[in-house]
Amino acid sequence: MKHKVAAFENLVEAFHALPGIGKKSAVRLAYHIAVENGFVGVKLAQAIEDAVETVRKCLHCHNMSEDELCGICADESRDRSKLCIVQSAKDILSIEESGEFGGVYYVISRVEDMDTRHLKAAVEGVDEVIFAFPPSIATDTMILYIEDKLEGTPVVFTKIAQGVPTGVELENIDIMSLSRALESRVRI
Ligand SMILES: [Zn+2]
Repeated sequence: MKHKVAAFENLVEAFHALPGIGKKSAVRLAYHIAVENGFVGVKLAQAIEDAVETVRKCLHCHNMSEDELCGICADESRDRSKLCIVQSAKDILSIEESGEFGGVYYVISRVEDMDTRHLKAAVEGVDEVIFAFPPSIATDTMILYIEDKLEGTPVVFTKIAQGVPTGVELENIDIMSLSRALESRVRI
């Protein structure tokens, strides 16, 4: 294995460790950077460092943010009577792209990490809590758990349903279907 170029192999491994990047893609990306276009590589390295250092979680909703509050929480024009609960901050990007929702968000990745007091504070003044989870048995269980924790809170619970296929992540749903699913949300 003497012919191996260690720095190149390291780069391949680093790409391969990323979600959705197979070995072949990792080699292609590493080759592009190490051999074909070093400038792209330097820019990528800077962007990665910058993102790792600056992107953090919004204190209020756990969305991605550069400040204590994310742009949505800080936006006075958002409708604070509607709170959309998502499983990932990435889903906020999809829903925002659909343009179908003017309310605010709350990210709950795992119920194990959920801080009920923090969630209750976020739900204060809210009329409708919308669960925008990809439909599956696991997320149905999550919804029941969260609803249970919010029992006694004067809110209506709804969830997106129609048009969203079971087991598919929101980021993989086309914007039209997501818009329809948000529009035709059902009461639970
Ligand atoms: Zn926020």
